[in-house]
Amino acid sequence: MYLKLLSEKQIKKMMRESENQITRLTESADSGIFNERVLVLVFESMKWDIHTLCITASVNCKLHALAKRILWRELCLYRAPRMMSTLTEGSSNKRIIGGWQALAKLLFFCGGCEPTRYFKLARSSPGHFVKSSRFSKTSGQSFLTKKCRGDVLYVSDPCEHQTGDKNDDVGIYRGVFRSFMKSRTREILIRKRVDFEVGVRCPYCGARVWSMTAAQLIPRKTAARRLGSSDDALEYFVCLNGHMHGTCWLVHLSSDEDDDVDDDEDERSEEDDDGDDFTDSDDGSSPNQCSKKR
Ligand SMILES: [Zn+2]
Ligand SMILES: [Zn+2]
Repeated sequence: MYLKLLSEKQIKKMMRESENQITRLTESADSGIFNERVLVLVFESMKWDIHTLCITASVNCKLHALAKRILWRELCLYRAPRMMSTLTEGSSNKRIIGGWQALAKLLFFCGGCEPTRYFKLARSSPGHFVKSSRFSKTSGQSFLTKKCRGDVLYVSDPCEHQTGDKNDDVGIYRGVFRSFMKSRTREILIRKRVDFEVGVRCPYCGARVWSMTAAQLIPRKTAARRLGSSDDALEYFVCLNGHMHGTCWLVHLSSDEDDDVDDDEDERSEEDDDGDDFTDSDDGSSPNQCSKKR
């Protein structure tokens, strides 16, 4: 009866309003998870747990895009603030070459190792999430030749991998340049026309890499001393986006060499102000989960 009293125009208007209401309800019902502010707060409350973020980013395209645009960056800024401040030269909105996603992976994932041209191994060792890492730019200076020491390079401590067939362990380390496109290292690699290494890709962004051994850009003494390796037992690669990954044979110290350990400890404590220590809170996920965010 009531409807009969309304004109056709009024009924159409009411239907339009009701449709709008339904649309608004539907949007608000599923927008919580897609609301950037809400997601950032949720992750903040979880101290930006890397495993949860990997899973979230692999749920669907929308969340993948949101993680790519905001969440990986926020995770890096939260978990390694001093290092990020240096890498971005103080501007948190700055674009990072290679992307924030690759940088987040570099912070939390040891890439494992495979035999390469200048580093022979009987078998490869798989990558894995790391519980904690320490990156230092003072440490990075040990991996730069004299003419490249104006560059800023962060390098992690080596992660020890048992190979099973030797007494020595393989040390696996990783790092990242600040503003690699403007670095002296890149300039020299380009000027010397060093070829990309065949069959090796960056474990963090998938880009092609230069072998620093082939480029003759490894200061072997300082790098080996920093790693606890011998001069001829290390190799590292730098990718087009300025990510570094490398391997070395770790030397087991005899009791005669204990004095050297003390020297090294002194240097390490001096560096405490230039790097970032962080601890990953969960160790329950498989390394495969990380590949979901690539
Ligand atoms: Zn490792
Ligand atoms: Zn890379």
